[in-house]
Amino acid sequence: MTYVNTAKCVGEVYAACQQVCPQDAIHFVRAIPAGYPSEGQPWMAIDPARCNDCGKCAPACPIGSVVEGANADSLWAQINANLGPVFQGQRATPRGTGEAPRRPDNTLLSR
Ligand code: SF4
Repeated sequence: MTYVNTAKCVGEVYAACQQVCPQDAIHFVRAIPAGYPSEGQPWMAIDPARCNDCGKCAPACPIGSVVEGANADSLWAQINANLGPVFQGQRATPRGTGEAPRRPDNTLLSR
């Protein structure tokens, strides 16, 4: 099993997940490559080969973009698996987790 970052993160990139990951398993995708959904948009990829399922990233995300298990979002699980290794070592500049989402279809989770 692994944790999966979903499409909610596209264009948001709070990057709180990357701050808490003890495995350096989450990488900044500055622009999603051609051939994938949301091509050209920024996003974060979780490399399932590095993730140890600690679960710290999911509650760290202020919009609930990270889900548990590949079956929770099989399309984006595959995208994480494909792009995670490609963008290994890329760090995002974190946004404040209280900052309003950029997309109207995302909402801040109450904590
Ligand atoms: S579950 Fe833990 S190891 Fe896996 S990506 Fe999230 S924070 Fe990193």
